[in-house]
Amino acid sequence: MSKDFYEVLGVSKTASEDELKKAYRKLARQYHPDVNKERGAEEKFKEIQKAYETLSDPQKRRQYDQFGEAAANGPGGFGQGFGGGFQGGFGDFGGGFSMDMESIFETFFNRGRRRDSNEPQPGDDLRYDLRVPFEVAVNGREYTIEIPQLVACEKCGGSGAKAGSQPTTCSKCGGQGRVRMAQHTILGSFEQVVTCPACHGEGKVISDPCPDCRGTGRVRKTNKVKVKVPAGVETGIRLKVANAGNAGQRGGPPGNLYIYIEVEDSAVFERDGQDIYSTATISYAQAALGGSIQVQGASGQIKVDIPAGTQPGATLRLRGKGLPSLNSFGGAARGDHYLKINVSVPKNLTGKQKDLLMSFAKSVDDAIIH
Ligand SMILES: [Zn+2]
Ligand SMILES: [Zn+2]
Repeated sequence: MSKDFYEVLGVSKTASEDELKKAYRKLARQYHPDVNKERGAEEKFKEIQKAYETLSDPQKRRQYDQFGEAAANGPGGFGQGFGGGFQGGFGDFGGGFSMDMESIFETFFNRGRRRDSNEPQPGDDLRYDLRVPFEVAVNGREYTIEIPQLVACEKCGGSGAKAGSQPTTCSKCGGQGRVRMAQHTILGSFEQVVTCPACHGEGKVISDPCPDCRGTGRVRKTNKVKVKVPAGVETGIRLKVANAGNAGQRGGPPGNLYIYIEVEDSAVFERDGQDIYSTATISYAQAALGGSIQVQGASGQIKVDIPAGTQPGATLRLRGKGLPSLNSFGGAARGDHYLKINVSVPKNLTGKQKDLLMSFAKSVDDAIIH
């Protein structure tokens, strides 16, 4: 290796630490043997590493600038290994690269921070779809629903070990749930921290599993859950019942239960949010003279006053006769009921009715009548 380290990285002799790092990262990505299978890529990668390793250390860089590679490579030069160690999963590298391996490995191996699997695990959330009649949107209703859940096994108290026995600390990982494994690559050997294969990351092994839960610590059980579906609900509303999901593991909290509401259509009303729409048919005389009629309202029959001279297709707005607001506490505003008026024109008139209508027509001087 006699190539100039600055040339290898493609930087000037006065390059800053940042410039070195940038150049190094770029080249390392380009020539990393895991991505670059071309002949010579591996050699090139090693050169790049060596150059960066030297130049990124101010003391080694000074020695290199003054005396060349031999000085920088002398005793006390390389081989310090990592001081800091990695929290995310990699241990010290035996080979002694003192460079920013963590980010490189994240890039190439796509290994992020792993979650310790012997930590407490929260239980899963559960979903339940509940179809309710339209009337529930008006009045609300309490439901009792049956939810198949994973609950902590009573027999073993959730430990998974047969009554009287205890899970024992995994001897392979000493209870850590993770072990170091040697990886042999063309870059040399290094140790990688992996989930312990003996205990699958639990840190404990159950030699005598509980027969009820087969060592899992949880059993299936159908639980009855009471849910109050509030007035004003609409399709798509999600109700949360805290802690009614699956039990957690290793002391983790239970998940939540989410109830997805579907409100059935009404035979009478169209709905738009908290407003409702319906149609009433009145007689020709009622339209002309006015009066009051009974119509189906959201909460039962209601009396509606028809003003004299109501036209076919007119819409009456019945304020506050719509649906309650979902978030209303103590009688906050309800929506409105819009009532569309149809007028029926009389058919099959008797002779007397015809005469009456005829004299009416004459009285208003209707030109159509002869
Ligand atoms: Zn283990
Ligand atoms: Zn059990």
